[in-house]
Amino acid sequence: MPRLIILGCGTPAPNLVRWGSAFLLNVANDWLLFDCGPATTYKMYRAGVKVTEVDHVFFTHHHSDHDSDYPCFLLTRFDLYTGKENPLNVYGPPPTERLTGQLMGKEQGAFWHDIVALTNHPMSLGAYRGRGGVGERKPPVIHARDLTSGDVITGDGWQVRAAEVAHAQPYLDSLGYRVDSDVGSVAFSGDTRPCDALTELARDVDLLVMECTRREDDMSEGSRTAETGSRGSAQTAVDSGAKKMVLVHQNEMIDDPVARSEVIAEVKGIYDGPVIWGEELLEVKI
Ligand SMILES: [Zn+2]
Repeated sequence: MPRLIILGCGTPAPNLVRWGSAFLLNVANDWLLFDCGPATTYKMYRAGVKVTEVDHVFFTHHHSDHDSDYPCFLLTRFDLYTGKENPLNVYGPPPTERLTGQLMGKEQGAFWHDIVALTNHPMSLGAYRGRGGVGERKPPVIHARDLTSGDVITGDGWQVRAAEVAHAQPYLDSLGYRVDSDVGSVAFSGDTRPCDALTELARDVDLLVMECTRREDDMSEGSRTAETGSRGSAQTAVDSGAKKMVLVHQNEMIDDPVARSEVIAEVKGIYDGPVIWGEELLEVKI
């Protein structure tokens, strides 16, 4: 069965239990990473997953709480290379391609100097050979691709479909994703207000990974244009027919036991399927 490991399910503001967004999905023989928010690489290590085993990254959008660990992920992955790893495939709404080039591209990349050092200095070449690297040490191969709504990525035993969701347009394009495989399906809302595109994307899905940022009654007018709260998350699960839901992207204000139980009660009053309170490093069976 697919396994979901929550690496990040908080907001841009760090607290002791959550920070930013990142989710690892193990499906068929691949690890897929959805978003790469703050400290993703470190939390991946804590979850026992090797950064070099992750060959597919999907960004929902480019708010920093969803992508600020991307340079760390890319550089750590390359630092541990033995030359036998698969190329890295990165997908997301614009500017995924531009951002990747600006970080790691030849000459133009902000970190190109380190790639030059790691591929030339005897110390780095010795470390490379020490961990089993053979032959010439080459720069990393990264295939970055901008996606739009309706795009489908097909892997070995899985398929990912993107749909535009309603978040920070027109400043940022935002996507939700659905992963289908022979052994189960998962939908990631990304950040969005409740919208028909997400409801359709998550139709009858086995697991809906759903933004639930705060109590519905605590949402500001601005927040309602771009985020989902307690009742909205529950209604999305009902309308889509999702079989199970995990709540993520919780604001700190709903993380104390009283507020948390109020949110869960409100959600369960609308949606009668299983509801999981997202926690970092929690593994969710699908
Ligand atoms: Zn966002």
